Amino acid sequence: MGCRRTDSWSALLRVVADQAKDERPLDGPIILRPDPGHRMPGRGAWLHPTPECFELAVRRKAFGRALRLQAAVDLHAVAHHVGAHPQHAVVALAPTITSEERSNAHEAG
Ligand SMILES: [Zn+2]
Repeated sequence: MGCRRTDSWSALLRVVADQAKDERPLDGPIILRPDPGHRMPGRGAWLHPTPECFELAVRRKAFGRALRLQAAVDLHAVAHHVGAHPQHAVVALAPTITSEERSNAHEAG
């Protein structure tokens, strides 16, 4: 998802939107959490568990696209998991998803 290299799912970290998002303030970010055990329900985003792949995904706003979120996302938990610097884990605003992007949202790695 970040570097766009494909890899087996076992080599990738799954990231999901926190299921308690309905309880968040209306204008608050959606918290994304690492799911190394692949146990959490819902749509997942996949990336290499490295700071490099994470930062690429942040720069490309790939989390919002992969998880089909149209709100700001809080990536601190994921950044901590992959060892990225906290300054690169600031809330990233997801782009508005167009129907064209929706049909292309099948990236891995
Ligand atoms: Zn990658």
